[in-house]
Amino acid sequence: MSNPCIQCGKERIDGKSWEEKAGISVVTYTDTVCPDSECQKIVDKAIADRKAKSANLIKIKAEAKLAREKQIAAG
Ligand SMILES: [Zn+2]
Repeated sequence: MSNPCIQCGKERIDGKSWEEKAGISVVTYTDTVCPDSECQKIVDKAIADRKAKSANLIKIKAEAKLAREKQIAAG
């Protein structure tokens, strides 16, 4: 199956693999990385940025909800 890098389009290669227990069976997971380590760094950063952004969004939403509830409580 083709799994091109989102950054440069090169075919991604197998990175680390690990096993995890899933019920009674053990599933092997394999992480794929870009063959270009500099490119992989960019991809990693983009993923981290996206995670930070969505975490921030969740925080903003939670704060807005809290503010709304406070407003309701205050009448
Ligand atoms: Zn790449």
